Amino acid sequence: MDSSIRAVAKINLYLDVLRRRPDGYHDIATVFLPLEDPADEIRLSTAAPGVLRVTSDHAGVPDGPGNLCWRAAEAFARDTGLAPSWEIAIRKRIPVAAGLGGGSSDAAAVLLALNRRHGEPLSLERLRRLAVGLGADVAFFLAPSPALGEGLGEVLRAVPCRRPLEVVLANPGFPIAAAWAYANRGRVALPPAPSLEAVLAALADPSPEALAPLTYNALEPAILDKFPLVAMLCRGLVEAGCLCGHVSGSGPTVYGLCPAGQGDAIRARLVERFGDDLWTCATRTLASRPEAVTEP
Ligand code: ATP
Repeated sequence: MDSSIRAVAKINLYLDVLRRRPDGYHDIATVFLPLEDPADEIRLSTAAPGVLRVTSDHAGVPDGPGNLCWRAAEAFARDTGLAPSWEIAIRKRIPVAAGLGGGSSDAAAVLLALNRRHGEPLSLERLRRLAVGLGADVAFFLAPSPALGEGLGEVLRAVPCRRPLEVVLANPGFPIAAAWAYANRGRVALPPAPSLEAVLAALADPSPEALAPLTYNALEPAILDKFPLVAMLCRGLVEAGCLCGHVSGSGPTVYGLCPAGQGDAIRARLVERFGDDLWTCATRTLASRPEAVTEP
């Protein structure tokens, strides 16, 4: 029996790095917003008993044990005691090593798909524990909804956000390793971070005009300094009509918040200026599920 699941991407509307921990990782405060597009497609089908096979259609993504989906499936097998008999094929649509969380989202999709296929042997809490062991962002993708991420990003609290926001994304086509972005973030002076409380308050009933001045990424200045094309794309988003232009996560994908109804036109201007070799996407964030939004 084949099944197929969409693994969505995210942007970080706000990302502050609070401290380096003794283990070398960093405590952060970040606002994750899931996106309608782009999304990877994860196809799960049955293989011979004892067989686990993971392949993708993207040259930059390893097949087999190097793939996060493989690690997710192994963790699921270990935790449930089930022998793998799974073939996992990934159609990669999310740019790779791009700050959009693609690998983490794929891994979460595999955990959810396997759990569903086998009659939900693991509770959401157990899945969360497996997800955290795979990577800081994986837990967010188990139930992608606007959230504040603290700790390494895995301590999640739902953030009410009652409407989608239009965004345009652009990716310059080269990867940035998250480790590089964290290690180099102190090389360039940082502007003061806007108040996180103000961001969360503005998100509840979001307008792109109110949110744009509150967007922030502490990893961004060092990335813009090292990679001028990324700085050009941030400026290009604003010149094309966005209300802000920022790096998402550890980059190099940039996003801009759009005035309502402007996403497609802004994307078209960006393509006209930079050419259609540039990867771009006009999309929307996913709003909170209705039960997560309480009436004032
Ligand atoms: P984040 O925003 O969570 O920091 P990212 O978008 O920057 O993540 P990914 O696309 O998840 O980065 O890829 C990071 C690395 O993981 C790449 O070097 C890639 O080769 C490897 N990788 C392993 N499995 C996958 C997968 N299923 N999809 C994408 N990359 C994968």
